Amino acid sequence: MNILVINAGSSSLKYQLMNPETGDVSAKGLCERIGIDGRLTHNANGTKTVKEIAMPTHGEAIAAVMDALVDAEIGVIKSVAEIDAVGHRVVHGGNKFADSCIIDEAVIKGIEECIPLGPLHNPANLLGITACQKLMPTTPQVAVFDTAFHMTMPAEAYRYAIPTEYYENDSLRRYGFHGTSHKYVTNRAIALTGKADLKVVNCHLGNGSSLSAVKDGKCQDTSMGLTPLAGVPMGTRSGDLDAGVVQFIANKYGKTVDQVLNELNKKSGVLAISGVSSDFRDIEEQATAGNADCELALEKFAYEVRKYIGSYAAVLGGLDCLVFTAGVGENSATMRARICKNLEYLGIKIDAEKNKIRGCENKISTDDSAVQVWVIPTNEELMIAQDTAALVK
Ligand code: ADP
Repeated sequence: MNILVINAGSSSLKYQLMNPETGDVSAKGLCERIGIDGRLTHNANGTKTVKEIAMPTHGEAIAAVMDALVDAEIGVIKSVAEIDAVGHRVVHGGNKFADSCIIDEAVIKGIEECIPLGPLHNPANLLGITACQKLMPTTPQVAVFDTAFHMTMPAEAYRYAIPTEYYENDSLRRYGFHGTSHKYVTNRAIALTGKADLKVVNCHLGNGSSLSAVKDGKCQDTSMGLTPLAGVPMGTRSGDLDAGVVQFIANKYGKTVDQVLNELNKKSGVLAISGVSSDFRDIEEQATAGNADCELALEKFAYEVRKYIGSYAAVLGGLDCLVFTAGVGENSATMRARICKNLEYLGIKIDAEKNKIRGCENKISTDDSAVQVWVIPTNEELMIAQDTAALVK
């Protein structure tokens, strides 16, 4: 089976053509500068091709992807008809979508209705969908939502303690993001431990970071909220914050709420504390070289992640498994060790030797650790392809 996975942004579009059973990727690439000029980077058969192609809209970008996929030299299929279905990443499903679904008129309308909740992403995701529908009118299209995995949260986890009208009239509540990643690593953790009723805390730690508490494969709580600003500090996002801080900065410096929120999203997090970079590799390098601000940024990040792990162990009534994934979680042995420091009381014991691994699936806890600790590289594209294949079969 060939599934085309599409992740459409406002001026870029990533794609992968993959086999959902084996996870084999036959071609992948990126369209950039859509609406400006247009560039396609296509990787297939071990060769990378870069082409300047006019892309005034997402329609031309998808057409360029199709041309590359069927091209005699750089292509991997003979005709577009060999694509069995297309899986689209959609960021915000609001409280309308608790699972992936085949796209029809009602689903398009539902995604449009979620635009107020995901104003930056949903319009771009829709452009990708409509462009594919036009070029491949008979190929099934599936929407896979970043928020869907978290829809099993109980009300006490998702409701905000603010006046009810905002929930009832505007659907303001915790939604959470990175759901496709949390779902993928949960499925892997269940398979690796052989325990379907696993109590697991997933730490998706990248440039954006979120944690989830999952029991019996169902999400019970997650650290991001209505928007991805909530939770632990991130590359450039503040994470959880007293809302009074927004009022203070706005009043004292004459800034609008939008301006303050822009600072909290783009100029905060470990970038702000380290004063050096939003990239954990740079911060770790400088901390090792003796930069105290970088050391504090790393310690702050580890502290907040550790706090969430403790609170989620309480939410789950115990813990069987802890999972690290995404850029930092998969690659930084020192950050994993920092986070797990003093968590022995929860039954978490890391093996220093096993923890040295990078970017591969491995158990890093000691044999006598009550909680299994795993590094599981995430694969959101494969999860999208598998959900898509399951729906169209
Ligand atoms: P995004 O949220 O953009 O998908 P990623 O999951 O790709 O982010 O994670 C990016 C982060 O992972 C960057 O901060 C990067 O520094 C960090 N990272 C990648 N490799 C390493 C490493 N070997 N050690 C520490 N951090 C790393």
